[in-house]
Amino acid sequence: MSTQQQEFETVIGLEIHIQLQTRTKMFCGCALSFGDAPNTHTCPTCLGLPGALPVTNARAVHYGLMIGLAVGSELAPRSIFHRKNYFYPDSPKGYQISQFDEPLCLGGELGGVRIHRVHLEDDAAKLVHAGASGRLHASQTSVVDFNRAGTPLAEIVTEPDVRSAEQAGEFLRLLRTTMRALGVSDVNMEEGSLRCDANISIRPVGSTELGTKTELKNMNSFRFIERGIRAEVARQEALVRAGESVVQETLHFDPRTEAITSLRSKEEAHDYRYFPEPDLIPVAITEEMLAAARAGMPELPAAREERFLALGLVDELARQLAWRTELADFFEAALAASEEAAPPAVAHWVSDLVARIEQEDPADSHVTPAALARVVALVDAKAITTGAGRQVLEKLVAGGGDPDAIVEAEGLGAVGGQDTLGPIVAAALEANPDVAEKLRGGDMKPVGVIVGFVMKETKGRADGKEVTRLVREQLGL
Ligand SMILES: [Zn+2]
Repeated sequence: MSTQQQEFETVIGLEIHIQLQTRTKMFCGCALSFGDAPNTHTCPTCLGLPGALPVTNARAVHYGLMIGLAVGSELAPRSIFHRKNYFYPDSPKGYQISQFDEPLCLGGELGGVRIHRVHLEDDAAKLVHAGASGRLHASQTSVVDFNRAGTPLAEIVTEPDVRSAEQAGEFLRLLRTTMRALGVSDVNMEEGSLRCDANISIRPVGSTELGTKTELKNMNSFRFIERGIRAEVARQEALVRAGESVVQETLHFDPRTEAITSLRSKEEAHDYRYFPEPDLIPVAITEEMLAAARAGMPELPAAREERFLALGLVDELARQLAWRTELADFFEAALAASEEAAPPAVAHWVSDLVARIEQEDPADSHVTPAALARVVALVDAKAITTGAGRQVLEKLVAGGGDPDAIVEAEGLGAVGGQDTLGPIVAAALEANPDVAEKLRGGDMKPVGVIVGFVMKETKGRADGKEVTRLVREQLGL
């Protein structure tokens, strides 16, 4: 088989950093802050001054255990911190305190992707590159804000189970929803509290060996991650098809230009010289700590999905709603507001609404759960047609309001019954004698012409099934 025709499989492993929403930093008492004046939340410990001693944040460990429970990890009874040595201006200590061979959580699974490990570490300071518009004029000048130095992070590492950019995006959305449900992080990607690296390789379909991987660093939007992975997979496939080989390196994806540039090659990779952090005692998990973590567990998206499936929702819809807390909450509120609408019908209309609004959260739109429930009820009762229901929804999206009032004002009430619809159906048959002839002969295919005529006459307010029934009745079929 020539390489030109070769089909490739994409293999992706993800490393996700979650900033934990604790009151204080990972190893000192400085407050976490976002948006405060630079360098106002620092102390000798997070500035890495000699002699300052770190103390592990108990709440960060608690959150780490909750994450481990959420993904079904094995929780290590004893884990330790290591120094990960590197020299860079964002690290005043000259090393990061992380976990190495004895992490807090091992193994697990989320949304069909196996979890390799979850461990705790501290974040680096923030480098601010002052450009031409800043007060600093030298183009190479950077300044450092140490407020972020020491922020607690949970790093979640997956096994290389992800097979496409879309699956990566879907997994990350589920992960974000799960973290939000746990309340361990605000998982705001723009503000960097959820950051993702992707290890990407390709291999011929059918092969079980892993190809040489590259690492796409620090992507902070779902769309950029998906686009970055797509661009990198295309780059690797083009290389291999041209008879060249993929070089192991760390890459940067520029979402504005779609360009992929090398940050460093394997030869330049850091040797972190990990060694156990001598200033910290091991994290030993007690029964009390485990009980507290278990007690803090909310209903997770995966469990919610199961519950939605039990309500009769189809797989895709159950997942679409459950994997986004705001959609699931809106669906449940609409369900609670509707008296007897079937859950699948309500779910369908929520999904329809989501496709029409610009907001991420339907609760931020003009449409209330009660209004949506009322639209479903009107359609269910055949007081309006499905098409008219969509028009009502469109009006609600545009400016909110009361569905009944909209139906009244727009004249959207269904036209039905022998008295109203009968004459229109008769007129339609009279206007289309050839169609009527075929229908009489038992060929029902052209009935759509009659339905279309009636819909036009009633401005879409007739029920198609009712029209077909009347056609049969009038033709004596
Ligand atoms: Zn501090």
